[in-house]
Amino acid sequence: MLGLQQASVTYPGGRTALTPTDIQFAEGQITVLLGPSGAGKSSILRLLNGLVPPSQGAVVRKGIGSLEQPLAMRAHRLSTAMIFQQHHLIGRLTVLDNVLLGRLGAWSWLQTILPPSRRDRLLSIAALDRVGLAARALDRADGLSGGEQQRVGIARAMAQRPSIILADEPIASLDPASAERMLGDLRRICCDDGLTAIVSLHQVEFARRFADRIVGVRHGGIVFDGPPAALDDHA
Ligand code: ADP
Ligand code: ADP
Repeated sequence: MLGLQQASVTYPGGRTALTPTDIQFAEGQITVLLGPSGAGKSSILRLLNGLVPPSQGAVVRKGIGSLEQPLAMRAHRLSTAMIFQQHHLIGRLTVLDNVLLGRLGAWSWLQTILPPSRRDRLLSIAALDRVGLAARALDRADGLSGGEQQRVGIARAMAQRPSIILADEPIASLDPASAERMLGDLRRICCDDGLTAIVSLHQVEFARRFADRIVGVRHGGIVFDGPPAALDDHA
């Protein structure tokens, strides 16, 4: 449903982070981009969310077209949510307000000058409930643990009611137990809602348990593509 067609990324300064790459991401599947730091995982995710344009080739979404078209990019972004390595929460705001900020992406310009609607609040609290944090809705965001803050990041993404989730190293800052919980919640929510998720990780063990499909990335190219079980044979 979303894919790269011979897409490459060369950053200003001439460094090629991704050589021309073809890949399709299937609807409703969790794909992990697995590889060491500097492999090109973030560059793939930046192509998929439009943060960098392809230097060559195209990023295409089925039913919408090439994201080069501004209207296609707009439609794509409205249904795509991001989860970051650092949660990017505003510490002095409440947890609920941080999730409501995620709703901004779904708001029209008119709604941005109105207070959040009852519907926005309900959607945001429901999203917090799905990561077990509804009871913390009115606490300040900086009062939560690192793992809880990352899970607020999931709730903020879900409050946008996306069909695609893009996550760049979402567990990089977490201890193993928090990482396990984070990926468990993310996997359950993606499966329940039939979401398409593309998540970069560098830990093989987490990737194996979390992914439907693993795409190994190294030196700016794809070196493996298959189900987690096939990774054993490969390694
Ligand atoms: P990963 O996410 O796997 O760590 P990246 O896609 O971030 O890999 O990086 C791939 C390569 O591109 C690395 O060598 C990195 O240093 C380089 N790179 C990433 N971002 C930029 C940038 N904004 N400008 C120049 N080089 C970059
Ligand atoms: P990640 O692990 O997500 O790839 P990095 O630590 O590689 O993150 O990069 C952090 C930030 O620095 C990113 O925004 C990336 O674009 C930028 N960056 C990475 N490598 C370079 C580089 N060689 N030149 C300029 N910016 C870079």
